[in-house]
Amino acid sequence: LLTNAKYESADCRNNQCVINYTHDKKNCRITCKAIINTTGPWVNNVLQSIQPKQSYPDIDLVLGTHIIIPGQLTQGMYYLESPDDKRAVFVMPWNNHILTGTTERLYTGRPEDVEAPEDDIKYLLSVYNHYFDNPVSRNDVIDAYAGLRVLLSDNGSMFSRSREITIHHNDSPSANVFTLYGGKLTTHRATAKQLLKVIKRHLHRA
Ligand SMILES: Cc1cc2nc3c(=O)[nH]c(=O)nc-3n(C[C@H](O)[C@H](O)[C@H](O)COP(=O)(O)OP(=O)(O)OC[C@H]3O[C@@H](n4cnc5c(N)ncnc54)[C@H](O)[C@@H]3O)c2cc1C
Repeated sequence: LLTNAKYESADCRNNQCVINYTHDKKNCRITCKAIINTTGPWVNNVLQSIQPKQSYPDIDLVLGTHIIIPGQLTQGMYYLESPDDKRAVFVMPWNNHILTGTTERLYTGRPEDVEAPEDDIKYLLSVYNHYFDNPVSRNDVIDAYAGLRVLLSDNGSMFSRSREITIHHNDSPSANVFTLYGGKLTTHRATAKQLLKVIKRHLHRA
């Protein structure tokens, strides 16, 4: 398992994939039966780099911010609703501080450039300050960071849109490229099982 290898491109046909990747600044190549593409916000970039051309669904990248603020919670964690838009915001203990999140906004930049927007930090502070007695100001924020969810594009609101996974398999049956969209950390085991079932069924047929 090469955890610090970077996938670059692939050629997948006749039940065989030739993958080009870099590892320790060296260009490398490997041949395998299938590609399992679980690259989160980069999934479609990977699909676009495969020959022959792969189809792929449109996705939205949805940016979510968390902030770490000073303080200690004396009991459990809190589910809050923003007084402005009724979105759920969690407040929980975090390494002797407090973690508050998250937000949701459409993101159109490169995944590797994602940063916590200032408006998100202000929004989370205002939700926290609405419910808790000890007001926290922008200068008190210890850290703020953002991640990207992958949601299939549709017209629904980002908050209510399905968090179910989608397993995409290319149209060409002998190309053996399997791509995972969406999901949650908490369901990773069930997701892996589901994905393996699809792959097994397909490779068995090939
Ligand atoms: C704000 C936010 C809050 C969330 N809250 C929760 C929650 O409370 N509970 C929960 O269960 N889930 C939550 N999730 C969802 C959870 O984070 C994701 O389901 C999970 O991270 C998906 O894991 P993954 O490994 O599939 O993808 P990712 O974590 O996105 O990992 C993709 C990996 O692919 C790698 N990669 C990309 N391109 C290449 C390449 N060319 N070569 C090699 N490697 C590459 C990247 O470096 C990265 O390590 C949240 C997500 C966000 C954004």
